Amino acid sequence: MSDTLHESTEALRARLERQFQVHTGQLTELTVHSRRPGHGGYDPDTLRGLMETARQGIADTAEALRRMSEGTYGRCEGCGGQIPIARLEILPWARHCVPCQQRHRG
Ligand SMILES: [Zn+2]
Repeated sequence: MSDTLHESTEALRARLERQFQVHTGQLTELTVHSRRPGHGGYDPDTLRGLMETARQGIADTAEALRRMSEGTYGRCEGCGGQIPIARLEILPWARHCVPCQQRHRG
């Protein structure tokens, strides 16, 4: 692993950990709202959507952090190739390189 990639991974790990905390905090807050009469002023569908987004964010970031601890972070699950660091900087929890991601959607 080159120094640049290593440094980037450390920066990404810090971002993922922060993101994980943000999503966890959001989900806790939304859960509190969902239990209040009138859902804390939220529309129930909106609240459900926001909770789903927060849950997905927690799952994505936890999964990425797990891959970091296992040493498989940054490897595409489709072709086994290295996901470009530029893509990981935009999407730190990415599990596929762009061509594989597009194949999955198609
Ligand atoms: Zn791939």
